[in-house]
Amino acid sequence: MKPRNIAIMFFCIFAGAALLATLHVRSKMEGRSMESQWQTTIDDLQTASSAAYIQSLHYDAYARQAAIDHDASREHLFQALAQSERIHEQMCARALKLFGSSYTPPEATTDSTTDTDTTTTTAGNLSHTLTSVRTRHRLSQGSAATRAIESGNRYVARIFIWIDGSNRRHIELLEHSGRRSSPSEGVMEYLVCPKCGNIYHTASYDIYCPFCRTHYSDFKRF
Ligand SMILES: [Zn+2]
Repeated sequence: MKPRNIAIMFFCIFAGAALLATLHVRSKMEGRSMESQWQTTIDDLQTASSAAYIQSLHYDAYARQAAIDHDASREHLFQALAQSERIHEQMCARALKLFGSSYTPPEATTDSTTDTDTTTTTAGNLSHTLTSVRTRHRLSQGSAATRAIESGNRYVARIFIWIDGSNRRHIELLEHSGRRSSPSEGVMEYLVCPKCGNIYHTASYDIYCPFCRTHYSDFKRF
C-alpha cells in the first residue's frame, strides 16, 4: 500500500473515533440534562404536595376552633380551604406516580397538626393564615409553573397554574372573611371544585370552573 493511502486510512480511523467520542459525550450530557429536568419537576411536585398536606391540617384545626367559637361561616371557610389543599395534594401525588415516583405525606409533627395558633381565637387564626398564605404566594411567584413550562411539561405546568390560581382565591376569601366583623352577619357557605381545588363562596361563583371547566353542580358545598 502506498504511504499516501496508509495516511488517508489512519486519518479516516482517527476522524471516525473522534466523531464517535463526541457523539457519546453529547448523548451523556443530554441524558444528564433531561434527568435533572425531570428531577426538578419531581422535587417541585414533592414540595407542593407536602406543603398542601400540612396546610390542610392547619385548616382542619382552624375549622375545629371556629366551631368552638360558634363561628359557622369561618368553620365552613376553613373546611373548604382544607378540602382545596387536599385536592392540590392529590393532583401532585397523581403526577408523581406518572413520573414513577412515589408520594407519602410528611410525618405529622406536633408543629404541623397542633399549631400553637389554634389555641388562640378564630380571628387570630384568620389573620395569621392570611399573612402566611400571602407570603407563600408572593415568594413562589408561580416559579414552579414557569419551571414546568420551560421543561416542556404542560401537564405539570397546568397543575401548578391551577394551584396558583386557587391560592389567589384562598387569599381573596380570607380577606373577605376578615372584613366581616361579626359571625351574626349571616352564615357563609363555600363551594370547592373537586378537580382543581378552586374555591368560591356560594353568593358568587362561575357556572364552569375557569381553570378546569368542571360544572358548578359538581362543586362540593361546605
Ligand atoms: Zn376546577
